[in-house]
Amino acid sequence: MATLGSPSQTAAIINKYNFNFKKKFGQNFLIDKSMLEKIVDAALVGEDDCVLEIGPGIGTMTQYLAERARKVIAVEIDETLIPVLNDTLSSYDNVTIINADILKTDIQELCDKYNNGKPVKVVANLPYYITTPIIMGLLEKRVPVSNITVMVQKEVADRMQEGPGSKDYGALSLAVQYYSKPEVVAVVPPECFMPRPNVSSSVIRLDLYEECPVKVKDDKYMFRLIRASFNQRRKTLSNGLSNDSSLNLTRDKVVAALVKMGKPETVRGETFTLEEFAVLSDLLLEQKNFEY
Ligand code: SAM
Repeated sequence: MATLGSPSQTAAIINKYNFNFKKKFGQNFLIDKSMLEKIVDAALVGEDDCVLEIGPGIGTMTQYLAERARKVIAVEIDETLIPVLNDTLSSYDNVTIINADILKTDIQELCDKYNNGKPVKVVANLPYYITTPIIMGLLEKRVPVSNITVMVQKEVADRMQEGPGSKDYGALSLAVQYYSKPEVVAVVPPECFMPRPNVSSSVIRLDLYEECPVKVKDDKYMFRLIRASFNQRRKTLSNGLSNDSSLNLTRDKVVAALVKMGKPETVRGETFTLEEFAVLSDLLLEQKNFEY
């Protein structure tokens, strides 16, 4: 049975270890049992699963995960939390604690070592300051992951689900929707954390596609175009893409591709769907290949 998940239990551990919360690591620990159950339910963790937990903190959610999964790998950057985790997780023999920065961790190696290279499930109450690099890294590196269930700032979860026409639509929305089907599974008020954050949070589950439904010849190139389009949000696509020297595209080339797509040359990237970026990417790549 989990021994953590209430304000008094968390406070007892904090006091026992004289632990100081570190803002730089985005430390807001969950203190609500029903929310913890809800997150673990939403992550669809079963008895055969290997779960990668990013940032276990004092091990609260880790306990709930360890009770359901075959194996939990918990990667925590803060070395002062390692003795705490060794204590709070001592009765679970299916948990491996790793003291490391997740951004510098070889996730493929962890999957090979603990799950015979098969896809793991990622669960995390993410530190807000590195939400985007963690999620983009998991998606773009194509490590074996079947779903990612993460607590993020509510606005970030909204952004992941947005489509054209919204001010929050951008490179993150397109990457998330290219690689996965996103679904917000819970909205979490500040009272569920110690200390309380200033913002509301959402839990979002990303179910990764085995095969991306949107077809494109070179997705790395498409995402270079997408980033360039949203870096220069106010500009038209033809100006934005031709101004980005790394793409080596002339305005005429971009306009020619847009004309082929039946789009006006004044069109902006923020109006383009994922499918339209894929078509544009293939057309520009075709022209590029033709030149050489
Ligand atoms: N999972 C715990 C919970 O829900 O109570 C703690 C969540 S807290 C928001 C985020 C945790 O991630 C902290 O324990 C923090 O030290 C850890 N963390 C921050 N940056 C990290 C990184 N780059 N790699 C691994 N862990 C990190």
